[in-house]
Amino acid sequence: MRSFGADTRMPTVAAVLDLIRERRTVSRVELAEATGMTQATMTHAVRKLMAMGFVHEVGKARSSNGMPRRLVELVPEASYQVGIQFDRYTAVGVVIDLAGATVVRRDLPGAGDRHPEEVLLEYAGAVDTMLDAASIPREKVLGIGLATHGPQDRGKGVLLTPQPSPDWREFPLAARLQEATGLPVALENDATAAGIGVQAKADAASNFAVVFMSGGIGAGVIIDGHPYRGATSNGVELGHISVEARGPRCACGNRGCLDMISGPAGVTGQAMRNRSLISRLGLGKDTLTDFLAIGRAAASGDAEAEVLIDTSKQHLAIATITLVNLFDVGRVVLAGAAFAEFGDVYLDALQEDLDESVFMRHVHSVQVRLAENPADAPAVGAAMVVLRDLLESPGEFPTPAT
Ligand SMILES: [Zn+2]
Repeated sequence: MRSFGADTRMPTVAAVLDLIRERRTVSRVELAEATGMTQATMTHAVRKLMAMGFVHEVGKARSSNGMPRRLVELVPEASYQVGIQFDRYTAVGVVIDLAGATVVRRDLPGAGDRHPEEVLLEYAGAVDTMLDAASIPREKVLGIGLATHGPQDRGKGVLLTPQPSPDWREFPLAARLQEATGLPVALENDATAAGIGVQAKADAASNFAVVFMSGGIGAGVIIDGHPYRGATSNGVELGHISVEARGPRCACGNRGCLDMISGPAGVTGQAMRNRSLISRLGLGKDTLTDFLAIGRAAASGDAEAEVLIDTSKQHLAIATITLVNLFDVGRVVLAGAAFAEFGDVYLDALQEDLDESVFMRHVHSVQVRLAENPADAPAVGAAMVVLRDLLESPGEFPTPAT
C-alpha cells in the first residue's frame, strides 16, 4: 500500500477520472478545457492517476495549432469494485472494472426475514464466488459498495430503522461485511446508488432524477454529474412523500405515503383483499414476486390487475411531478427490480402526466426513460461509490497491486 499523503484536492482527481472514463483517450489540454481547471492542476491530477496506475500515456496527437499533445487513456483492468444491492425480496451482485463495465453479475437472495449476520455471510460468499469466476485477484479490488434502503448512517455503515426486522437497526453492516471479506465496505442508499449507476453510462455533467422501485420506492437526484446528498444522504425519499394528505399512517410517521399506495407492498396489500385475484394470479408468495405477477396480469389485460396498477401509476406520477418541479431535471430514469419487467407500462403513464403538468414544460421537455439495466443499476452504482469515496476522501489512498 503506497500513500499519496493528505490531499484535499482529491475531488479534482475524481472529476478528472470521470472525464477520462467518458472520453477514454484524451489530452491534458482537452481535460483542462472541459473542466475549466488550470493546466497545472490538470497535470497534477493526471500525474496522481498515473501513479495509481489508473491511466497511462498512449502517444501524441497534433492539436489545431500544430503542437503535439500527449494523450492519456484509462486502464480499465487497473482496479475492480464490487457492488451489492439488496432489500427484503431481491438482491443483485456485480463486479465492475475501472471503466464501469460489468465483469460479473449474479442474482442473489433478498434478506427475507433472516438475521443480518446470516445475510451478510451469504453475500461475503457471493463476493468470493464472483471474484473467482472472473479470476480477479483480491489485491486489485478496491472494495464493496453495499446499497439498501434508509434511513441510514453512511459514516457508521448502519441502518437506523427496524426494517426488515429489529435485528437490523444499528447492526454494523459495513464493518461486518468488511470483516468477512477483508475488503473495505461503503454503505449507500439504494436509490442514490441507482442514480450513480445510471450516471456511469451518461455524460459527466448530466442532470436527472432516478425513480427507483424494488421492495419500496425511492429516488436519487444527480446534479451536474454528482449525487445530491442533502445533509445526511437521507433525502429525496420519494416513497415517503404524502400523496393522500389524510391517508393511513405509514411506518415512517407520515400519512398517505406514496410507497403505501404505489409501491409493491401497497399494490399487493390491495390485491390480497380480492380472493378471485389471489387464486387467479397465484398470489401469496413474497411482496415483490406478487407485485410482478399483478403487473404481468395488468399488461396482458386482466381488468382487476389493471385497476391496481393504474392507481399505482397515477400516484407515482403525482409524486414524480413534484420531484421534477423541485429539482428542474431534464430526465427521469426508472430503475430497480420492480421496473425491470414492465417498466415501459409506467414509463408511458409518467411521460404523459409530466408532459401535461410539470412547471417548466414551456422551458424544456422532461424525458422519461428506462435505465439500461433497471435491475442492475443500483448494484453498479454501489460499486462506483467505492471508487468515488476513495478519491473524494482526503488522506491516504491505497493503491491496488499491479
Ligand atoms: Zn412513509
